[in-house]
Amino acid sequence: MSVARALAKLSDAADLKVGALLVNKGRVLLVGWNDETTDPVTHAEIAVLGRVGSFASAARSDELYVTTSPCLSCAKRIIEYGAIGRVYYQHEWWDKAATDLLTTSGIEVVRLDKGGVESHKTKPGTIDPMTGLEIDEVRLSAAAAYDFLDQLIVPKPKF
Ligand SMILES: [Zn+2]
Repeated sequence: MSVARALAKLSDAADLKVGALLVNKGRVLLVGWNDETTDPVTHAEIAVLGRVGSFASAARSDELYVTTSPCLSCAKRIIEYGAIGRVYYQHEWWDKAATDLLTTSGIEVVRLDKGGVESHKTKPGTIDPMTGLEIDEVRLSAAAAYDFLDQLIVPKPKF
């Protein structure tokens, strides 16, 4: 989040400066900040995701760090991008419909305080169309399945 804050300082926006970065397994993929010189203005999330197309990623292992939680149109772009599983933010955008939309689309939304500690978490609670279970239950049942498979692995013989 400190990197996102540093990026926000690059913005020329008069009032709200926003920085964002896309991370995968600790590697920074893309960075951006909001730009008011364009028409319409470019939000930080769009500066990051604007040119990268979409990925239907089941793993959803990308994480987006943004200094202010997304607006509704950026939330739609985040969902359309398809590979983001978690959005971290520090400041709350007034329109919480965007956070709700992300959550119901299976994306975890986590608020970090200034020190980078989780202060609020919105767990996805969407129904998985394949199983009819809530996303969290699907994850849990997958974990249980893996535990079960682990037990099936024949232990190495001891000599
Ligand atoms: Zn936006």
